[in-house]
Amino acid sequence: MWHEKNKTFMEMISSIDEMRAVIVRARDAGKRVAFVPTMGFLHNGHLSLIRKAGELCEFVVVSIFVNPIQFGVNEDLEGYPRDIERDKRLCAGEHVDVLFTPIAKLMYAGGYSTYVEEKFLSEPLCGLARTGHFKGVTTIVTKLFNIVQPDVAVFGQKDAQQARIIQRMVFDLNFPIEVVIAPIVREPDGLAMSSRNMYLGLDERKRAGCIYAALCLAEELCRQGESDPVKVKNRMSELIMREDGSNVSASIDYIEIVDHLTLRPVKNIGNAVLIAVAVRIGSTRLIDNVIVDLNVA
Ligand code: AMP
Repeated sequence: MWHEKNKTFMEMISSIDEMRAVIVRARDAGKRVAFVPTMGFLHNGHLSLIRKAGELCEFVVVSIFVNPIQFGVNEDLEGYPRDIERDKRLCAGEHVDVLFTPIAKLMYAGGYSTYVEEKFLSEPLCGLARTGHFKGVTTIVTKLFNIVQPDVAVFGQKDAQQARIIQRMVFDLNFPIEVVIAPIVREPDGLAMSSRNMYLGLDERKRAGCIYAALCLAEELCRQGESDPVKVKNRMSELIMREDGSNVSASIDYIEIVDHLTLRPVKNIGNAVLIAVAVRIGSTRLIDNVIVDLNVA
């Protein structure tokens, strides 16, 4: 456990060479390195990963990089929320040894043409609507892993598909890295924390509560013995689409009940399933999920 008295000076680094040099020094000092990649605009979900990293290793690196190649042409790259000063303050209040903020022009220097692609787990769910998204994710995570060379990397269950894909990539490409997946941190009403929640107006924010409500309903139905995924999905859909008296529109991108390892739809709800949703509240696309394991109370 990390204590305030151990607080170290946090280095801000944007140069790749400097980042490598600092890692060499940390390793020479016998420290294990934990890494938390983020796109910034940090919230308590990110901070929970940072704390997990601090529990696992003596040296913690957090990166902030809004990765252009994981955004589709009609997505929110330009408008993605950024507040580096606030992020710095939040990291400085945690056990973060290095805040790594690489520069897009240097990460993808002239003529950049090498990509890493996972071809199975990337297909369903968000892969259907966000062509090329996961290829962008696996490429940047590979680059960051090569620069930071962590022993442990911490990702959030919030992005369940991304976490599975990274685990698969680490296995397939023999990265000597332990991937740790940390639980979803939620707002008091259950909405999963996300940098994109800041796009929501007041009425939209209220309406967004339907996402977690639908996941809770699904879990309850499964635990009561409902084994037909179609019935569970229909009940979730009804709940999400129920008008709440506001003018806020909700539309379902997907509701899926899949095997938690293969991410393919199950015919019957047995053992462990991942119930994953992507819902647009107004124009903001939000994702969330729950794992229902009937073997665990
Ligand atoms: P992002 O900055 O959105 O790319 O997220 C960086 C990391 O934080 C990813 O591994 C996310 O899964 C994780 N993360 C985002 N939101 C949450 C949350 N509410 N709870 C736990 N982890 C999260």
